[in-house]
Amino acid sequence: MQGLMMDMPLTLTMIMRHGERSHAARQIVSVTADSPLHRYTYADCFRRARQLANALGALGASPDARVGTLAWNDYRHMELYYAISCSGRVCHTINPRLFDAQIEYIINHAEDEFVFVDLAFVGKLEAIAAQCPGVRGYVVMTDAAHMPATSLPNVHCYETLLAGQRDDFEWPALDERTASGLCYTSGTTGNPKGVLYNHRSAVMMAYTAALPDAVNLSANDGVLPIVPMFHVNAWGLPFAAVLVGAKLVFPGPRLSAPEVLADLITGEGVTVSAGVPTVCLPLLDYAAQTGRSLAPLSRFVIGGSACPLSMIEAFRDRHGVKVLHAWGMTEMSPLGTVNADTPETAALGGAARSEQLLSQGRALPGVELKITDEDNRELPWDGQQVGALKVRGLWVCRDYYRLDGQGGAHEADGWFVTGDICSIDPNGFMRITDRAKDVIKSGGEWISSIDLENAAMGHPAVAEAAVIGVPHPKWQERPLLVVVKKSGVAVVPADLISWLGERVAKWWLPDDVVFVDELPHTATGKLSKLELRKRLADYRLPDASA
Ligand code: AMP
Repeated sequence: MQGLMMDMPLTLTMIMRHGERSHAARQIVSVTADSPLHRYTYADCFRRARQLANALGALGASPDARVGTLAWNDYRHMELYYAISCSGRVCHTINPRLFDAQIEYIINHAEDEFVFVDLAFVGKLEAIAAQCPGVRGYVVMTDAAHMPATSLPNVHCYETLLAGQRDDFEWPALDERTASGLCYTSGTTGNPKGVLYNHRSAVMMAYTAALPDAVNLSANDGVLPIVPMFHVNAWGLPFAAVLVGAKLVFPGPRLSAPEVLADLITGEGVTVSAGVPTVCLPLLDYAAQTGRSLAPLSRFVIGGSACPLSMIEAFRDRHGVKVLHAWGMTEMSPLGTVNADTPETAALGGAARSEQLLSQGRALPGVELKITDEDNRELPWDGQQVGALKVRGLWVCRDYYRLDGQGGAHEADGWFVTGDICSIDPNGFMRITDRAKDVIKSGGEWISSIDLENAAMGHPAVAEAAVIGVPHPKWQERPLLVVVKKSGVAVVPADLISWLGERVAKWWLPDDVVFVDELPHTATGKLSKLELRKRLADYRLPDASA
């Protein structure tokens, strides 16, 4: 027997309508490149989103167009999030920190019809526009006064475009499985892979993120997403905040300026923030040096890389801020687990408490976890045994965009293989111990060890090369190049670094080079990174404070 309840689709339009009707006066405050501090309300934001939806139609964007954005966190990006997705189109957030060739690849792979771009990234697009023939036009996210001279073809000014549009728009009735957003991840080997979110997954993520044992959001909160809007929809906060009617505070291009973040926190009543550990360190240092309080901040969601204990303790002991240590992935919209206390964990003391704080937490309801051994046998949750972490759930991707099952990350029964290695204790608390995928995460951005190895192997003095990530206090991880020299050839680390300098981006360059007599291999002759990491467990970078 079927129930007799209404069948209302889960769409971002529903969240937007709720925000506009029930929290019309709630503020959205943004630092932007073209005005120091912009302030308006939800009502203003969604009125302009309607104008923007009309503008997309006037530009001739297809009903299901992929529309790219290359932008920092601010109110115009927020308008784009809703106008693009709720008009039935796909908001493709592009990471401006990728290399030009990667940006070009993903714009073409996504088949973006239009790209909206912040002033800061116009030059980046100019360099590749000729290689992106499918893009029908560009919109610079600024006003007429700040419109740059640019070689971009068919270019428009955002404010001029909006000004000519009506502010009424009939949002289409969408199926909840309509694609809403697209985000490419380079956290795997090979070309970046597209994760195509839909309205249903985004709404379910927003509801769950707002739960008390997740981010615990309400209309009384001020939310500062430091995590960029091009990183998995700023971890879903622009949707979760509107769902509950929280104030939104956007750092714009100043997300790495601790004094700006501290001003926003104290001046705008920020109670919740979110970001990778790398952005937290300067904020904590700045607060310590200046003696500034971070009140009224009470929670900080930290994820993307393991959060060090010293950071969790500094927030707690100096500022009374609870770190919500979270784990997730682009493929998971992104939240998988959050370390929120239970009565039992809150009662722990001493070393047991410290250990527990390092856990990435329990699965959010709607996400299932399992760990398996090398033969794909499920391992017990005993807090000891370590295995490959696999997930499935309401907001986990079931395939990559336009890869038709060739993404290599899904098992036949549908479980998604995360590439992370962990243990899970009997209460469901997960602890990441290693990574099976051959990538290094530095300051929240991925570096491909395989690409670095291939480049190093091209050097005439290198017989074999391996690149592993080693701990770094600021960047969490930095690449270390381990080399077996060809016999009889003289080479020093500087030779290899300058060789790589001509072949990879500067921030990819290994922090050090170690020469060894041989590299460890598995029984099948593959390089064993696991064994290499064990052998170099005591290695410390020469300048780990850089
Ligand atoms: P991304 O798709 O770029 O968000 O990266 C996801 C990956 O980042 C995960 O598969 C992990 O390898 C890593 N990661 C995310 N959060 C954490 C965390 N809290 N601790 C350790 N690693 C993490």
